[in-house]
Amino acid sequence: MNFNQAEFLTSYGLSSQLPKSDELEFAFAGRSNVGKSSLINKLFNRKALAKVSAVPGKTATINFYRVENVHFVDLPGYGYAKVAKSEKERWAALIEKYFGDDRNLGLVFQLVDMRHPPTKLDIDMTNYLIECELPFAVVLTKADKLNKTQTKERLAAIRKELPYGEQLTILPCSSQTGAGIEEMRELIEEIVSQ
Ligand code: GDP
Repeated sequence: MNFNQAEFLTSYGLSSQLPKSDELEFAFAGRSNVGKSSLINKLFNRKALAKVSAVPGKTATINFYRVENVHFVDLPGYGYAKVAKSEKERWAALIEKYFGDDRNLGLVFQLVDMRHPPTKLDIDMTNYLIECELPFAVVLTKADKLNKTQTKERLAAIRKELPYGEQLTILPCSSQTGAGIEEMRELIEEIVSQ
């Protein structure tokens, strides 16, 4: 797969707009400001495919990208405290419609900030993915911000903090240094070729 050939397909802001699809999809989920846009841009070698926002909580749409016939789905970030209740409900409706649509999901990448223990919403999301029996891997973002000792500590801790942590695929990544990005691509390629 040529990761340099990604193109933007479309955005949806309302669950009622979301069409069903049989295409193989890889989705990205995580709280606002976790580094999701930066990671998507790094994965596809692009500067602004996913808009990196300095204002958290701005990306309240589901955005679809495509490489050949594989779809990549940028889910709206969760957990931004300052948004209104109606906005949170719209977010929940979008996510539930998306995951409830019986899609052809190759893998969901759940992004968690590597510097901190997962938030309650991160843990809720992991539990949700497990309950829905969706295939997922945890990407620990901003790995460049930790030194060797801290990296080791967080990697051990996260396996205890996340539900079924010992059994999860956990990948430390950095959009700044590119660490972990090739491993992410390999994971995707492996699933695409199955
Ligand atoms: P999103 O809200 O999840 O899409 O997060 P963004 O990609 O917009 O990133 C949020 C902030 O974190 C921005 O200031 C980014 O520059 C920063 N950031 C994102 N990824 C990394 C990373 O891997 N390393 C470092 N040091 N900062 C990052």
